[in-house]
Amino acid sequence: MPVDLHCHTTVSDGALTPAELTRLASSRGLSLLAITDHDAIDALAEARRAAPPGLEILSGAELTVHVADREAHILAYGIDAQNPALNAALTDLAGKREARAREIVARLVELGVEIEFADVQAASGSGTIARPHVARALVARGHVASLDEAFRRWLGRHAPAFVPKQALSPRDAFELIKQAGGIASLAHPGTFRRDDLIPVLVESGLQALEVRHTEHSAARTRHYEALARDLDLLPTGGSDFHGTPGHRSRLGTPTVPDEWAAALVARTHTQH
Ligand code: AMP
Ligand code: MN
Ligand code: MN
Ligand code: MN
Repeated sequence: MPVDLHCHTTVSDGALTPAELTRLASSRGLSLLAITDHDAIDALAEARRAAPPGLEILSGAELTVHVADREAHILAYGIDAQNPALNAALTDLAGKREARAREIVARLVELGVEIEFADVQAASGSGTIARPHVARALVARGHVASLDEAFRRWLGRHAPAFVPKQALSPRDAFELIKQAGGIASLAHPGTFRRDDLIPVLVESGLQALEVRHTEHSAARTRHYEALARDLDLLPTGGSDFHGTPGHRSRLGTPTVPDEWAAALVARTHTQH
């Protein structure tokens, strides 16, 4: 039965609400869906309520961590959404993301771009604020034609209004995930491109590796499948579906072997 273990909703930077995403997943014939919003787990309750019969929802999140001056994404699976330490950490991160977005807006204003924080809030709705929301606000104001241009001209790592994000250390992220009964998987190692750091992450508590991903070629997929085997990591996979214009992910693609999903679910403590 097809599954997707990596996707986003309006709770972070996805285009579909949690309920809409479950309906799309069901129409694609998926039997298991892990929703992995950036630094947030608020989609879970709505997704569980809305999920059509035959579709199981596995709790998830995609946590940003800083390692060796780089940003890595850690997928958390099967976490208990009620866990107090996890919720406190996510609330703290949301506050830091808002402060960062305000700083980006202040920089843009200094650079002569007419924009207000309210524009960004309107773009993000009630969810986690991320740079794509600032990009959407820039498009809405007519300053740029596309999200891509917004990142190139203003928001990207080497652009003038770039502000780094506050993030957890890998160790803190793994500890939070473990305490909440979850399993930690390194997201899209093929775009992280620091295979040398993977053994270091394993030392700090990494348990799984996202072998299959929209951005992984067949060769990379084979490479990471072998690496997961060598390092004794559970293989995971997912589309990283966002549903926004310019994002080429398709829900349910690439496929994930049943055995991978079953092994992952079996290893999570809460199962939900
Ligand atoms: P943040 O978490 O606020 O740093 O924002 C990072 C998000 O920006 C990533 O999850 C991507 O989905 C998105 N992103 C990065 N580069 C681009 C781009 N060139 N165009 C559109 N979205 C992008
Ligand atoms: Mn994203
Ligand atoms: Mn990611
Ligand atoms: Mn993602």
